[in-house]
Amino acid sequence: MDAEGLEPGVVVSRLAPSPTGGLHVGHARTFLVAWWAARRRGGRVVLRIEDLDGSRTRPGMTEQAVEDLRWLGLDWDEGPDVGGPNGPYVQSERTGFYEAALERLREAERVYPCTCTRAEIARMQTAPHAGEEGPIYPGRCAGRRVGDAARLAAEGRTFAWRFRAGDRIWSWDDGQLGRVSRSAGGDFVVGRSTGEAAYQLAVVVDDAAMGVTEVVRGDDLVTSTPRQLALFEALGWRAPRYRHVPLVLDGQGRRLAKRDQAIKLASLRAWGVDPQRLVGWLAWSLGWAGRVEPSRPWDWVRREVPELVASEPWAVEDEVLGDLRSSTSAGREAV
Ligand SMILES: [Zn+2]
Repeated sequence: MDAEGLEPGVVVSRLAPSPTGGLHVGHARTFLVAWWAARRRGGRVVLRIEDLDGSRTRPGMTEQAVEDLRWLGLDWDEGPDVGGPNGPYVQSERTGFYEAALERLREAERVYPCTCTRAEIARMQTAPHAGEEGPIYPGRCAGRRVGDAARLAAEGRTFAWRFRAGDRIWSWDDGQLGRVSRSAGGDFVVGRSTGEAAYQLAVVVDDAAMGVTEVVRGDDLVTSTPRQLALFEALGWRAPRYRHVPLVLDGQGRRLAKRDQAIKLASLRAWGVDPQRLVGWLAWSLGWAGRVEPSRPWDWVRREVPELVASEPWAVEDEVLGDLRSSTSAGREAV
């Protein structure tokens, strides 16, 4: 559980797909940077499947994520398909670890039972400005102690465990954004009323247990970082370094949608697209090369490339998809 016990200097990065709607070009780009962040320093890569939101997870999606990432040319040292010393590598099989961490937070009175529903919290908002992670919790249940949970349960009331984050400002040196300071956005849920661990707690427990030192993810998750830093501190674990990379947009400047089949790796694979062509586009979009050249991920480990990736979001225009499709044998015949 303790990242402090790791060999000093070993860089460990993780690829953490959620197998909900299939991986797309945007995931591929972020995972390429996450993988590169470890490989260029001789580090290790862990593949972890984040499938806690069981209602949205579909069977076969884990296998598809593994195939998509292999097709792209990425590899990993630990994961559900290759094993490793810190498994299991699928979150739905790790609930015992999350429960143990939650118990530690209860023992330290860092959490309290919250009976508020989502609708109630939305109604309690007095200011029109909600936090970026949703409405800021107004603290209605914060006067409770851990010991109140037994009484609530006896009364048949359901409750979530909410972490006392308060309004402290957290700062970190982001590998992409530089110095970032922001609050956790109020007390937040770490244990759901269903008994399932919330995303924030599961990620922190897993990153600590798997010795992750580098977290590379999309900048839509910047708002999660103060929450995760607060949990690392409360649990007495060393937090990893964070790097939040710009998202990929579609031709209309919107976030890529998982429902859009055209940008899914599974679709590109099925069409016979050359993965080296896609890696070439990704590397170019990151500012690693001045032109699009077919390449493998390992080529960008060996080459000298800028430490910071391009700071503007990359828009996947039709030109990109057209070029990828023309790299297939069917596409060449059609030209
Ligand atoms: Zn409450």
